[in-house]
Amino acid sequence: MTLETPVSAFYGVGEKKAAAYARMGIECARDILYHFPRAYQRRGNIKSLCDVSDAEVVSLLLTVASRPINTMVKGRMTLTKFVAFDDTGKCTVTYFNQSYLADVFKLGATFRFYGKIKVRGNRYEMSSPAYEAYFEGKPLPEFFAVYPLSEPLTQKNVKDAVKIALSGCPLEKEDVIPGNIRDKYSLPPLKKALNDIHSPADYPSLAQARKRFVFEELFTFACAVTMTKNAVHGGRAPIIPQTDTKPFLDALPYTLTAAQKRCAKDILLDLTNKDGTPMARLLSGDVGSGKTVVAALAAYICCSGGYQCALMAPTEILANQHYKDISELFSKLGIKCSLLTGSVRASARKKILAELESGETGIIIGTHALLTDTVKFANPALVITDEQHRFGVMQRAALAEKGKDLHTLVMSATPIPRTLAHIMYGDLDISQIDEMPPGRQKVDTYVVNESFRERLNAFIRKQVSEGGQVYAVCPSIESEEEEGLVGLDFCEETEQKPKMKNAVEYCDKLRAALPECRIELIHGKQSGAQKDKTMRAFAAHEIDVLVSTTVIEVGVNVPNASLMIVENAERFGLSQLHQLRGRVGRGERKSYFILVSDSESEVAKERLNVLKENSNGYKIAEADLKMRGPGDFLPHGEHRAKQHGEFTFGIANLCDDMETLTDAFACAEEILREDPDLSSGEHAPLLKAARRMYGEEMKTVN
Ligand code: ADP
Ligand code: MG
Repeated sequence: MTLETPVSAFYGVGEKKAAAYARMGIECARDILYHFPRAYQRRGNIKSLCDVSDAEVVSLLLTVASRPINTMVKGRMTLTKFVAFDDTGKCTVTYFNQSYLADVFKLGATFRFYGKIKVRGNRYEMSSPAYEAYFEGKPLPEFFAVYPLSEPLTQKNVKDAVKIALSGCPLEKEDVIPGNIRDKYSLPPLKKALNDIHSPADYPSLAQARKRFVFEELFTFACAVTMTKNAVHGGRAPIIPQTDTKPFLDALPYTLTAAQKRCAKDILLDLTNKDGTPMARLLSGDVGSGKTVVAALAAYICCSGGYQCALMAPTEILANQHYKDISELFSKLGIKCSLLTGSVRASARKKILAELESGETGIIIGTHALLTDTVKFANPALVITDEQHRFGVMQRAALAEKGKDLHTLVMSATPIPRTLAHIMYGDLDISQIDEMPPGRQKVDTYVVNESFRERLNAFIRKQVSEGGQVYAVCPSIESEEEEGLVGLDFCEETEQKPKMKNAVEYCDKLRAALPECRIELIHGKQSGAQKDKTMRAFAAHEIDVLVSTTVIEVGVNVPNASLMIVENAERFGLSQLHQLRGRVGRGERKSYFILVSDSESEVAKERLNVLKENSNGYKIAEADLKMRGPGDFLPHGEHRAKQHGEFTFGIANLCDDMETLTDAFACAEEILREDPDLSSGEHAPLLKAARRMYGEEMKTVN
C-alpha cells in the first residue's frame, strides 16, 4: 500500500462507501490519513453514578447486571433494555432497533458508556449511549475521535480505514516538513503526528499533532504562493504601448473618482512597464466602489495596443453581468467582446473560440471555462480575475500556468486590512479603491430576532406592493451541510447555536405567508442555466422576492432591490454581510438591510451591531479583525460548498494560527532561496504537496 492507494481498494469499501468518501474529497490512503477528526469526546474522564447530574454528557464504567431483554414497542420498534452498575449505583440502559445488542452486553461484562444521562431521584437512565468493551488492565483511550461523515459511512468505517492506512503506508519518506524545520519548531514527525491526531493518548500529544498539521498546511501554502510569485516575477509579459484613454473616458456616463484614477494609474504603469515584468496586481475595493470600470480600462489599454484580454468571474451569473456592462461600453469603442460560459452551446462556442483564436475578439468574459485548453488566444496580454472575496490562489496558479507571460489583475470586493491582504495575496501588488462614487445612499440596517417574523413579512409585503424587490438570504440549502463545516474542535461540547434555516423550506414558508408575492429560489446546487434564468427574471422584475443562499452575493446588480433580509445572520462573517448589504441601495429606492438572528451570544450581538453602525467596509473589516481575528477573511469561515478552483484550509484556523502563518512564510522563503524549484530529493514530498494544494498547474510554473 502507498499513500496513493485508492480507498476503493480498502477492505470493506465498496462502491457506495467509495462514493461517500469521494463526496468528502477522499480518494486515496493519503486523503484518509488527512481526514482529521472534527472533534474528540473526552471519554477517559470516568465518573461515578453518584456524581452525575441530570442531562449531563458523561463517561461511565459499568458492568452488566441483568441479561438484556428485547421487547417490541409500538408494534415496529425493538427495545433492548438492561441494568448496569458501578460501585455507587445502578443505571438502566436502552437501545432501539438493535436487537443484536442483547448478545453484545453479556452478563458480568464491563463497558465504557458515553452519552447523556437522565437522573430521576436515585434512578439513572441512559438511552443509546456509545459503548466500548472494557477489559481489566487494558485501559481505553482517553479521547475518542469523531469524524466528519457522509452517508452511509459510520464512525467505525472511517476509524477502520484510518487504521489500515496508518499501518499500511510507508510514511518515513513522505514527510512534507523537512527535518531541520521540524526540529526548529519542535514538530513531531509525520507518523507520530498522524497517530496522535487520530487516536491521541493525551491532550499534549494531540495539541502537538495539531500544531504540526497546521504548520504543514500553512507551510505548504506559503511555499506554493511564494513559488508562484517568484515564477510570475521571473516571467516576461507583453509591453503594452502607451494609449490615449480619452475615448474610453468619454464613453463613460460619469467621471472616475480620485481613487479609481489612482488605481488606473498603477495599472497603466504596470502594463506599459518597459522591462516586461508581468503585472500581478490586486484591485480591491468595497462593493459598488467601481472596480469593473477600472478593470475595463485596463482591458481597453491592452486591446488598443492590439492585444487580447480575458475576464474570469467565479460564477456564470457574474460573468453574464460583466458581459452586459462591458460589451455595451466596448461596442461604443469598436472592440469585440464575447461571453464564454459552461452554458454556451457547442455551435456558438465554436464560433466564439474561432474569433478568439483569429484575434478578432478583444476581450473574452467567462467562468473557469476560460481555463480549458481549447481556449486559444491570438495575442493575449491580460487576465482579469474577478474573485470577489474568494481566496483565489488556485485560480491564480491555474492562470499563472496558462499565461505566466501575461499580466494579471485580480479584483476583490473584500475590504481587507493591509496586513492580511499581504498574506492572502502575498503573490500580488495591491491597489485599493477606498472611496465610493458620489450619490450613494445609506442603507438602513436593523438587527432583529424571530419574534419580529410577522412584522418582517408585513414589511416585505409593503416593499413589494410599492414596486420594490427583496432578497432573502439563508446560509445554506440543506442543514446537513453544517456537519462538514466544523473545524477540528477540542471542546467536548459544542456551543448551542440557533438552528440553521434551510433555504428550500424557508422559501415554502414565505410563499405560504405571502401568497400575493412572486417568490423564487436560487441556490448553488442548481445548474448554471437555471440560476441564470432566475437571476435574469429577478433583474427583469418578474420575481418579487428572491430566496437564496449566498450565491447572489457575488456582484449582481439589481437597482430596484430595496430590502435584504439575512437569516441566521450570526453565521456570516461581517465582511460577507457587508458585501451582501451592497446588493441593495443601488438605485433610487430607500433601502433596508435586516439581519435576523436568534443568537443569545453577546459576541454575536456585538458583531452584528458593528454592521449597524458602520458603512465603510474597511472599518468593518478592522473591527471584525479586532473582535474575531482574521478567520472571517479566510475560507475557514466560509459557509458554502467548496467549488471547483476554490481553496480552503483544512485544519488551520487563522484566528488562532496567525503566528504560525508568519513562521510558515519565513520558512518557505528560506527553503526556496536554497532550492527555488524544490527539486532536491528531500523536498519531493513538499513539492508534491504544494502541487496538490495549488493544482497540477504548479508543475509548469517553474
Ligand atoms: P464593484 O466595485 O462592486 O464591482 P461596480 O464596478 O459594479 O462596483 O460599480 C457599481 C456601480 O457604480 C456601477 O453601476 C457603475 O456604473 C457605477 N460607477 C462606477 N464608477 C463610478 C463613478 N466614478 N461615478 C459614478 N458611478 C460609478
Ligand atoms: Mg463588481
